[in-house]
Amino acid sequence: MDNEKFSSYDEEDLTPISALNQYLYCQRRCALIHIEQIWTENLFTAEGRIMHDKVDTANRESRGNVRIEYGVPLRSFRLGLIGKADVVEFHKMDDGTWMPFLVEYKRGKPKPDNCDKVQLCAQAICLEEMLNVEIKEGALFYGQTRRREDVIFDKKLRTETEDAAKRLHELIASGVTPKPEYSKKCKQCSLLNLCMPKVCGKHKAANNYLAGVINELSD
Ligand code: SF4
Repeated sequence: MDNEKFSSYDEEDLTPISALNQYLYCQRRCALIHIEQIWTENLFTAEGRIMHDKVDTANRESRGNVRIEYGVPLRSFRLGLIGKADVVEFHKMDDGTWMPFLVEYKRGKPKPDNCDKVQLCAQAICLEEMLNVEIKEGALFYGQTRRREDVIFDKKLRTETEDAAKRLHELIASGVTPKPEYSKKCKQCSLLNLCMPKVCGKHKAANNYLAGVINELSD
């Protein structure tokens, strides 16, 4: 781990780790939440929150050579991120040391993009900085498939995570919310009705406005 080559953030600049996931999902969504402080819940976010709350109410347990901690606070001054891990398993190694293994709970099923993996990798980088260890892998648990998907924190994923964290801070520092671009993912976005991507999209001509509003309302 070569921490020195990266800039370090102050306490007041720390941004929620979950914002990274939002940034990769849609930069506008991220800006609406973290610049304009807009939040609204839908079925998808409510399910996700309930799943996290359930994990959070547990405390800790031990199973043989594994100690399990729930709701572990995380932060990295190097990436400028703060948050909480759903679960950190500490596995006892042959030399008597304890190796952390992160597990993040997600509603739904594995996604074709890397949003969830980047979020988990950011959690690992936080824990590495806090505990001065190297964490090689973790897992995502999906509610719909009821399965754990292993995630290897390789160089490619770490670089993607570090770049995303840097761009996330640049977006928030800019204070500018990007224009919407309608895509398939908008249908699952809790901010759809506030964002109105079909009406306010990047390339909308003024004479398309009314057609856009009608479309938006009929969805
Ligand atoms: S509705 Fe679409 S464009 Fe708007 S914030 Fe959500 S995902 Fe982004």
